[in-house]
Amino acid sequence: MNWNCKTYCFVLGPFLAIFFSFNSVLRAQDNYSGQRQQMVRWQIEARGITNKKVIQAFRHVERHRFVLPEFINEAYDDCPLPIDEGQTISQPYIVAYMTDVLELKPTDKVLEIGTGSGYQAAILAQICDSVYTIELFETLGHKAKALFSELGYNNIYCKIGDGYKGWPEHAPFDAIIVTCSPTHVPQPLKEQLAEGGRMIIPVGKSPFQNLVLLEKKKGKIREDKVLLVRFVPMLDEEGKTY
Ligand code: SAH
Repeated sequence: MNWNCKTYCFVLGPFLAIFFSFNSVLRAQDNYSGQRQQMVRWQIEARGITNKKVIQAFRHVERHRFVLPEFINEAYDDCPLPIDEGQTISQPYIVAYMTDVLELKPTDKVLEIGTGSGYQAAILAQICDSVYTIELFETLGHKAKALFSELGYNNIYCKIGDGYKGWPEHAPFDAIIVTCSPTHVPQPLKEQLAEGGRMIIPVGKSPFQNLVLLEKKKGKIREDKVLLVRFVPMLDEEGKTY
């Protein structure tokens, strides 16, 4: 075969086209890297969070992939944003704060109540071995699960259901994070917390709640109020608040 100029074009052309379009798709997906680094600097580090693993997770996870398309340009703003079913993706600093106080280890198994957009679960999955996350709304749960597999997370396990009951089949958990607010700490979650484990949960009625940090030591649970916050309520399967 005579490899003249025409042959090169025919053979290499399609390869080059695929290479460059793939490359530009990758770049387009992360046009937000600058904004993300600014978010980490001014919303998270500047407010005193120093845990390297937490910072690294926030540098890595593309928050703009978890928000609704109409809010993509606000994905790195210092505020919560609406998601489907009238729910919200929490403010980045609150996600960072709650992750930080859990003092996670790489070998930890974590339970999250309230998958929502999936952003908090993705942050946890960057830091720990396995994340079990429960969402009440089917639409949100399925959407987050599809996104996790698209982003290559194989250590996030999803369930649709009422997180008040926890996930007894996989208990105990080294850490539990609740991202919707009941009026009291659910007893099943206390029971599913491992010895030496920590739980962070907003407790109280609308509009403001106390973020409560629980720690189980020698079977006893210590509770501390750590911050005033605003979360969506924890609902049961009939839509009533807990
Ligand atoms: N962690 C989420 C925040 C979502 S807001 C994120 O990173 O985006 C809280 C979520 O809790 C909502 O999606 C809401 O539907 C869900 N929720 C409310 N009550 C629940 C319950 N009993 N069990 C599981 N999820 C619940």
